[in-house]
Parts: sequence; C-alpha cells; structure tokens
Amino acid sequence: MIDESSARRRFLKHMLLTTGVTALSLMAASPAAYSADKASKKNVHYRPKPNDGEHCGQCLYFLAPTSNASEGHCMAVQGAIDPNGWCRLFEADPSS
Ligand code: SF4
Repeated sequence: MIDESSARRRFLKHMLLTTGVTALSLMAASPAAYSADKASKKNVHYRPKPNDGEHCGQCLYFLAPTSNASEGHCMAVQGAIDPNGWCRLFEADPSS
C-alpha cells in the first residue's frame, strides 16, 4: 500500500526527471533554459556530503564529471554536483 506522502514524493520526482530530460534535449540549443528548468539546490536541500551512505554518485539522476572535472551534473538539480553530495531527490541507481 502506498501512502499519500510517498505517492506525492514519487510524482514530484517523476516530474523533475521529466523536466530534466526535456531540458537535456534543449541543452544544445539553449543552455540557459536547461538550467532554469531544474530545481535549485536550496529547494531540494542539496549538501556536498553523503547522507547515511547515500550520495550523488549512486543516484539515478547523476551525470558523471567529464574529463578532469571533479564535479558532475544532475538531471534534476541546477549547477555543479559533487559525486559525494546528496539531496532529497536521491533515487538509488539500480545499475550502480
Ligand atoms: S542526490 Fe539529488 S543532486 Fe544528487 S544526483 Fe541525485 S537528484 Fe541530483
């Protein structure tokens, strides 16, 4: 049985992921729009450290750093993302 709070959280995650995927498709044409469609770090309580063993590097929405960069990006949250960070949208990536 899914309670209302859990269902609401899953819906919000789905909406953020959908928005993030849409934003990714627009990235080449409009980098500003890509960033504006994501949640702010403040709104999702992002922090640059893990939470009970969960961290961005294990998250379904994490985009790994390219080249020699130490930070990656996220499909749902604005800005550079530390692989050891965490936010309330964390969703374990079943492939990691
Ligand atoms: S934990 Fe939050 S900031 Fe980190 S990758 Fe997942 S959704 Fe993005």
